[in-house]
Formats: sequence, C-alpha cells, structure tokens
Amino acid sequence: MDLGLTGRWALVCGASKGLGYGCAEALVREGVSVVVVARTEGPLQLAVQRLQGLRVDALAQQVIGVAADITSGAGRAAVFAHPGGPGTNFDIVITNAGGPPPGDFRDWQRDDWIAAVDANMLTPIELIKATVDGMAARRFGRIINITSTTVKAPIDNLGLSSGARSGLTGFVAGLARSPLAQANVTINNLLPGAFDTDRLRKTVEAAAQKPGQTIDLVLERRRQSIPAGRLGTADEFGAICAFICSQHASYITGQNILADGGAYPGSF
Ligand code: NAD
Repeated sequence: MDLGLTGRWALVCGASKGLGYGCAEALVREGVSVVVVARTEGPLQLAVQRLQGLRVDALAQQVIGVAADITSGAGRAAVFAHPGGPGTNFDIVITNAGGPPPGDFRDWQRDDWIAAVDANMLTPIELIKATVDGMAARRFGRIINITSTTVKAPIDNLGLSSGARSGLTGFVAGLARSPLAQANVTINNLLPGAFDTDRLRKTVEAAAQKPGQTIDLVLERRRQSIPAGRLGTADEFGAICAFICSQHASYITGQNILADGGAYPGSF
C-alpha cells in the first residue's frame, strides 16, 4: 500500500529511541523528511545516522537531528529555527516526551504537577499551535500525540501521567472537530500499552527491586497480563503511526487509538 507520504516533512519528538524512534523510522521508510528531537546529542546522532541509511531517496529526503528539550520554549524555538528544516511548515507532527515519574500523590508537590502538565499537556498544545494553521492552509496535516493507555485505564501510581495526559485528550477532542477537520488536518492520540523500550525496562527494573522479585519474573507476569502474551515493539508502533499519517487515514480524527495487545478489557 502506498501511504502517499513521499516528500512530506515530519517533526518527531523524543525520537532518539523507543516509540518516537519507531515512528521516525516508519516515516523515513515512506519517503518522509524528518526533524528528530531528543535531549542528548550522542544517542540522537546515532539515530540520525540509522535513519539516513533508511532513506528511500537519499538525494531528496532529509534527516535532521535537533538536540533540545522539547518541553522548553527554547527547545521548540530551536526546532522551528533550524536552517535545514521547514520552519513551522511541517505536514506531520508526532508529539512525545518522557512520561512523568510514578509515585504516591501524597508526595507530589505543585512543582511536580506543573512539570507533568508542562511536558505532557502544554508542550503538545504549543507544538500544535505552531503548526496547525499552516497545515490547514496547505490542506494536509497529521498530528499524533503519543499518550498512554493510562488515559483510558488509569493506574493509581501513574496519576501525574494520566492526569496531565487526560487534559491533553480533552483539548484534542474539541480541536480535532473544529474546522481543521474540513481542511484535511487530523489530530489523534496513540495510546501505547506495554512496549519493549528503555522506559519500560526501567519500570520493570524498579519493580524487580522488591523482595522475591527478579526482572524475568516481573517481565513474565507482565506478558501474562496481556492477551497477546507479549510486549509490543517500537517497529509495530511506528507502522501504526505511519498509517494514521497516511493519505488513507483522512477520515480518522479525534480518536484515541489503543495499541496494547488487547490489555484494555472494555468493548469501547
Ligand atoms: P524511551 O525512554 O524509550 O524514549 C523516550 C525518548 O524521548 C528518548 O529519545 C528521549 O531522549 C526522548 N525525550 C524524553 N524527554 C524528552 C524531552 N523533554 N525533549 C526531547 N526528547 C525527550 O520512552 P518510550 O517507551 O518510547 O515512551 C515514549 C512515551 O510513551 C513516554 O511518554 C511514555 O511515558 C509513553 N508510554 C510508553 C509506554 C511503553 O510501554 N514504552 C507505555 C505507555 C506510555
């Protein structure tokens, strides 16, 4: 299937590894030029090199890395001001940043909440604000926010994540149904369940610190709790992302799309 994305420009945040990298890779394989953002120069440049090797048209397609904290105004300004990039004229924006830490809400102070809301709600909104009207003028746009299944099925110790991401979800539900929809600009949230990334490994390692636990035991229990019997991969997450960005997905907007191996138990 031709996804019809050749020649498009995508901004992919949190893209040196994990789910963001998976999205960048799938888009580059479809002929998309990308600006990939992560905070640390070394891993980012490794990702850029890998992505450059995957281009379908090495002359026409560009892969640009910007080492920046996407949750800061300065980081976003650096992305939009990069001389080789399209400015704010992206066709595709994948918003993503590290998730807030787990914990007990009794320990969280105002600053913890502000940091979570800043990273997981206000940063995507700022990125949307900077790009979406240009998309509408060009009659093509795809925004995908990487959120979490915790929006649909909250977990008590992930309250910072589900709280902040639910705010974004409510905002997106309204905006996606604005006149942007008639301009072929779609805005959707992709909700990962358990994917085999560094972030998931860290949470597994933390759980394995408890008495009687090991990494293998925690991982096996996790796999057994998922109907698919396994963790997801960044590759398959990227493929879903690329389809939602494609010319075939113009009629999908304002949705919260779960990718969780069947772990969410509800019908809707
Ligand atoms: P990861 O730790 O494997 O990768 C995160 C990437 O984002 C890295 O490239 C990192 O450098 C970059 N990054 C983090 N903060 C950034 C910032 N402020 N500015 C720029 N780049 C930044 O994580 P992942 O597993 O790919 O998770 C991505 C998102 O999906 C996170 O928000 C996470 O909470 C959410 N999520 C992941 C899972 C999972 O199972 N992996 C499940 C639910 C939700």
